[in-house]
Amino acid sequence: MNPGQKMLESAQALIKKTAQSLNLNNEKIKRLIEPEMIYEFSFTVPMDDGTKKIFKGWRIQHNSALGPYKGGIRFHPETSREEVQALATLMTIKCAVAGLPYGGGKGGVAVDPKNLSKSELEKLSRSFTMKIARFIGENIDIPAPDVNTNPQIMAWMLDQYQKIKGVKSPSTFTGKPIEIGGSLGRTEATGRGGLFVLEFLIEKLKFKREDLSIAVQGFGNVGYYFAKLAYEAGFRIVALSDSKGGIYKKEGLNPEKAMEYKKKNKSLSGFDGKNITNDELLELDIDVLVPSALENVINEKNASNIKAKIILELANGPTTEEAYEYLKDKTVIVPDVLANSGGVTVSYLEWVQGKQGYWWSEDEVNKKLKEMMRRAFEAIWQKSKEKNISLKQSAFETAIERITKAMI
Ligand code: NAD
Repeated sequence: MNPGQKMLESAQALIKKTAQSLNLNNEKIKRLIEPEMIYEFSFTVPMDDGTKKIFKGWRIQHNSALGPYKGGIRFHPETSREEVQALATLMTIKCAVAGLPYGGGKGGVAVDPKNLSKSELEKLSRSFTMKIARFIGENIDIPAPDVNTNPQIMAWMLDQYQKIKGVKSPSTFTGKPIEIGGSLGRTEATGRGGLFVLEFLIEKLKFKREDLSIAVQGFGNVGYYFAKLAYEAGFRIVALSDSKGGIYKKEGLNPEKAMEYKKKNKSLSGFDGKNITNDELLELDIDVLVPSALENVINEKNASNIKAKIILELANGPTTEEAYEYLKDKTVIVPDVLANSGGVTVSYLEWVQGKQGYWWSEDEVNKKLKEMMRRAFEAIWQKSKEKNISLKQSAFETAIERITKAMI
C-alpha cells in the first residue's frame, strides 16, 4: 500500500467513526469524506539539457462548507493522488479546528526537486500553475507551501497566475516573500504555533519545561523553527534529524548552530553528540516527540517502542491508525490538525492583510496567532475533558460539528 493510501484510510476512518458517533446521516458522512473536486494532470517541463520531462500533478478540493479551499503544494517523489487527497481531507478538518473561514484543499507534484536546477524548478512551478490557474483564486482556492516548496516557489506561482489572469491578486497564494505581500511571521508560524500548543498543554498537565527533553524528527521549515523557538523558550532539545539521519545529546543541542552546521556540511552528522538513525530518534527515552517530517513514521512496527509522554504531531499524518490505537491511552497525542495549525492560521492572517492592503508588525501577527491557537486549543481540551475522549477525537468532533452546521 502506498503511504498516501494509508494516511487517506486513517483520516477517512476517523471521520466516519466520529460522524457516526455524532449520529450524522449517510449523506452528510459522504460529503465529509468525498472530495468535491479532483484535478489530476500531467504536464511537460523543458529541462536545461534541451529535453522535455513529463510530470504528474494534482490539486484536490476536498470540502468548501466553511469557505474557499485552503492548502499547500507538495513536491515529493512519492506524492500520489491518495496522499494529496488525504492531506486535503486533513486541511478541511484543520481549518475548522483552527476556526478559520476555509475549506480544505491540497496540491502536489510527483518530483524530486533535489534533482532539478533552479531554472528547472522555476519552470516546473510555473507549468504547474498554468494547470491549476483555472481552479484557484483568492475566494476559490488558496495554495501555500508544504514539503519542498517555499516562499520563492510561491512567488513564481503567483507571478505566473497574475500573468494568466491579468490582475494583481496577492491573496491567491500565501507563504509568499514579504516584498510581494507575504506576512511577517509566516515562515516560522507552524513551528511557533506548535510551541504555543506545547506550552498550553504542559500548563494543563502541570509539567515544567525545564524537566522536559524533546526530540524533533525533520529539520525543514517546521522542525527547524519549532526546535529553535523551543530552545529559546527554555526547553531542552536532545535530538534532531533530517532525511539523512540524526544526532542525539542528552545535555541538549543548539538548533540554530545545528542549522549553520547542516548548511555547511549538507548533513547533521558529526555536529554534536552521537549520530543516530531516524528510527532510533523515534524510540529515544525522551518526554516529547515531535515528528516534523513525513507521514506514517509512527506505525505498528515501532509503536510499542515509543517512550515519549507527549507526541506533538507537527507533520501531517505522522501516526498511523494502528499506532494511534496502541498509544492513545499511554501517550498524550496532540493531533496534527491542532498542533500544526499555526501555519494555516498565519496564512489566513496573510490573506486578510493582502485583501485589505494593510500590513501588521511581526509582534501583532504573533500575538494574533497566539490568541487564535489558545482559542483552538481550549475548545479541544475542554471537550476532551468533558467527554473523556482523546484530543484527536475531540478535534475531529469539534471540526465535524462546525463543518456540518455550515453544510446547506
Ligand atoms: P520541508 O521540506 O521544509 O522539511 C522536511 C524535512 O523533513 C527536511 O528536513 C527533510 O530532510 C526531512 N525528511 C524528509 N524525509 C525524512 C525522513 N524519512 N526522515 C526524517 N526526516 C525526513 O517541509 P516542512 O514544510 O517542514 O513540512 C514538514 C511536515 O510538516 C509535513 O508533513 C508537512 O505537511 C507539515 N506541515 C507543514 C506546514 C508548513 O507551513 N510548511 C504546515 C503544516 C504542516
